[in-house]
Amino acid sequence: MLILSGGTGTPKLLEGLKKLLPENEITVVVNTAEDMWVSGNLVTPDIDTVLYLFSGKLDTDKWWGIKNDTFITYEFLRSLGHNEILKLGDQDRAVNIMRSDLLRTGYSLTEATQIISKALGIRSKILPMSDDPVSTLITTSTAKMHFQEFWVKEQGKPAVVEVSQEGIEKACISPAVLEALEKEENVLIGPSNPITSIGPILTLKGMKDILKKKKVVAVSPIIGKEAVSGPAGKLMAARGLEVSSAGVVDCYKDILDIIILDERDDYGISALKNAACKVLITDTLMKNVEKSISLARFVVDAFKYLD
Ligand code: GDP
Repeated sequence: MLILSGGTGTPKLLEGLKKLLPENEITVVVNTAEDMWVSGNLVTPDIDTVLYLFSGKLDTDKWWGIKNDTFITYEFLRSLGHNEILKLGDQDRAVNIMRSDLLRTGYSLTEATQIISKALGIRSKILPMSDDPVSTLITTSTAKMHFQEFWVKEQGKPAVVEVSQEGIEKACISPAVLEALEKEENVLIGPSNPITSIGPILTLKGMKDILKKKKVVAVSPIIGKEAVSGPAGKLMAARGLEVSSAGVVDCYKDILDIIILDERDDYGISALKNAACKVLITDTLMKNVEKSISLARFVVDAFKYLD
């Protein structure tokens, strides 16, 4: 199975999938539009969450960073008056240093990710969506800023006027992702932010045309008229989309075969009664590993409807 992922909702589902499927049958194509250079090193938040998940190192209380990490370098930098925008743990920073050194030596982001992935003992394929830089920018009524600045520094509070992706027109799907897509028929769009996580992957040149020929199942990250967590609702509204599972289906129109809705999502269930794609309903709230596994099982079975 090939899974399109951001850094919170889909990794929760990956936790279940990796317990059901052989690890070498899982390929994860990860959003890179939230990447950011911090103190000389490239932080790739979504890739790192997926890497740490598969290597058993993820802090699953926060869904970012390494569990039991220390923050000695971050705190000492602060005491020197150097305030970093992201609170990086020491081991997390080590991964960022290794990645950035590989990039500076001439490796692509895909190659650097493969080297780190191997070093962490991961057998699934974790692939950045592109080797070209893409940045999600948020325009508020007073400023235009990187997504991380909006979400971490401004705590997602300012009203959003526009969401854009700098570099997306020139960015190409990485050769490794193209190769993986050639081999894989089943594509899962995890419950991730449709604007900042899945949006950039789908906007890459040629991606939608490829996905139109695949069996595509998505899990909605919205229940009723609200996202389960994070800024998805605010950003969907800024793009003029309805904040609902119907709005999510709108984002994925032309490529989607099945949408999986939460059983509590009365609004979505009724709004999608006559949808062009098939609608399946289950408990999608992954409050613990058992819930992740049962949703993963439901997703694997959903693809059987398309055989
Ligand atoms: P980000 O990269 O940290 O923004 O994370 P993602 O884009 O991967 O995931 C964020 C999205 O996951 C949000 O829109 C949430 O609504 C959704 N989400 C988080 N947890 C769950 C869950 O347990 N179930 C469902 N259905 N959606 C979830």
